Amino acid sequence: MKYLYVAATEEVEHAALAAVTARVAAEFGGPVRSMELGSVDFAFDAERGQYGSIPVLDMLLRRYPRDAAKLLAVTERDLFIPVLTFVFGQAQLGGRVGVVSFARLRQEFYGLAANREIFLERAHKEALHETGHLFGLLHCAERLCAMSLATTVRQIDLKDDAFCAACAARLRRNPEGRKV
Ligand SMILES: [Zn+2]
Ligand SMILES: [Zn+2]
Repeated sequence: MKYLYVAATEEVEHAALAAVTARVAAEFGGPVRSMELGSVDFAFDAERGQYGSIPVLDMLLRRYPRDAAKLLAVTERDLFIPVLTFVFGQAQLGGRVGVVSFARLRQEFYGLAANREIFLERAHKEALHETGHLFGLLHCAERLCAMSLATTVRQIDLKDDAFCAACAARLRRNPEGRKV
């Protein structure tokens, strides 16, 4: 049997990992497994003060469990790719591994008071988004769809915590897809 894995780097609190795992499991169907990763210090770029998401994805491929169908990781570290200031996450399109950063999903990042509800809602949306890429979904023109491209938290907040009907139908047609 193959499992959809949701993994967390060491600094992620267990409750946040459990919440995201539950949301992914509800959307994509079981069985889903959690997995603990170590630190991503190896991906730290001292000049930028951020962590490279490409080396993180490489590490996930090396750690990829034999019984994994997909592996989505979550981290508190702020991620980037060389051509962008930051990324909320990155995933291989139709591939095996993806990652979501919680760093910029938190109100504290913008100097605002912490709000757990807002943070978890954003985390759910971004986990669905990157997992959607893993199952072959492209960016969606429907702004409310979880697969629409968001480059600001405001755009994340405007999205639904769900796929639009067209993306949900694409997932159902994907032979890799389970329930969805
Ligand atoms: Zn995307
Ligand atoms: Zn869509």
